[in-house]
Amino acid sequence: MLFRQLFDSESSTYTYLIADPKLKEAILVDPVLEQVERDCRLLKELDLTLRYCLETHIHADHITGTGKLRELTGCRGIVPDQAQASCADRQIQDLEILELGEIVIQAIATPGHTDSHMAYHLNNNAVLTGDSLFIRGCGRTDFQSGDAGILYDSVTQQLFTLPAPTLVYPAHDYRGCTVSTMGEELRWNPRFAGRDRNGFIDFMNHLDLPDPKKMMEAVPANEQCGRTSVAA
Ligand code: FE
Repeated sequence: MLFRQLFDSESSTYTYLIADPKLKEAILVDPVLEQVERDCRLLKELDLTLRYCLETHIHADHITGTGKLRELTGCRGIVPDQAQASCADRQIQDLEILELGEIVIQAIATPGHTDSHMAYHLNNNAVLTGDSLFIRGCGRTDFQSGDAGILYDSVTQQLFTLPAPTLVYPAHDYRGCTVSTMGEELRWNPRFAGRDRNGFIDFMNHLDLPDPKKMMEAVPANEQCGRTSVAA
């Protein structure tokens, strides 16, 4: 399996390229509109056909590259079950499996950052955690129907119960980290370690973060699979 972690520095977003080199087919998880050219160049250089763009959730901090990639490559866009994106080709349900050659991805419903959010368990040894779990952090829960109690349950019951060596690949990092493990996060993630559900809710409800710069354009655009202008 080919696995690449790609970064958008403006939004600190990680996009993941996962491919079966024998089949020469690929999946992009959480592509960013401004990086579509980079992604297409890499696909071409590696001689890969893009089959799917997979979203962990409807993002508020960047516009998805899925719509553009779909136009350019004919790939299919997949969003989590219940996500407000009727333009998507397919929704993926909790525990549903997406297979592409030697790649096996199982969706794990991990709501809380947004009401509809999936982590993707990759070949039973890594998890793309989206904005549910970051390295020593987690996604915010103060907009897009976020709910701190639900995020606590998702992380502690769905993610922390995976084997400790499972690799953790988040959708963002703001401090230069790239990968962690479930065991490491269980022990050292300051948002969860030593905090019960009520303590976590209280902490999250007092973060007082500014809205993401692109929120007003990103959410409506992402509900249209990344289309930035809607015909009048
Ligand atoms: Fe997000």
